[in-house]
Amino acid sequence: MTNSQSYNKKTNDYNLTKNQKIVFNLLQNSGEPLKAYTILESLKREGLKSPLQVYRALDKLVELGIIHKIESQNSFIACSNSNCASNTAFTICRRCGDVKEIKNNHLFEQVSDLGKKNRLKVHRFNLEFYVDCNGCKVN
Ligand SMILES: [Zn+2]
Ligand SMILES: [Zn+2]
Repeated sequence: MTNSQSYNKKTNDYNLTKNQKIVFNLLQNSGEPLKAYTILESLKREGLKSPLQVYRALDKLVELGIIHKIESQNSFIACSNSNCASNTAFTICRRCGDVKEIKNNHLFEQVSDLGKKNRLKVHRFNLEFYVDCNGCKVN
């Protein structure tokens, strides 16, 4: 998969610290959002013992745009696109909680335009759409 190749390249480019790599790998392998305390619990045996170490790593990874924070859930998920910077959009299933990242340049442009029209500079946005996912749709 070209995606995972670009991730590997990306994480190497970013020169992540050991802790950042451990946290990133956990999130990437999990494929679903994890809360900080879950991450801390999972990584105790890897030597990450203090919440501060985990929070620092998370902050940096979010800043780099290779993981994202799901604001409403206070959880973190590995980016499934190649370059989101700090703008994100997710669908969250109301029933099963399934989270998917969506990348839609048109949508992203519209948000910027909306900002411009209101004479606001949009620094970043994190969109969350509450949906019934395909698996949960009731016909
Ligand atoms: Zn992303
Ligand atoms: Zn669902």
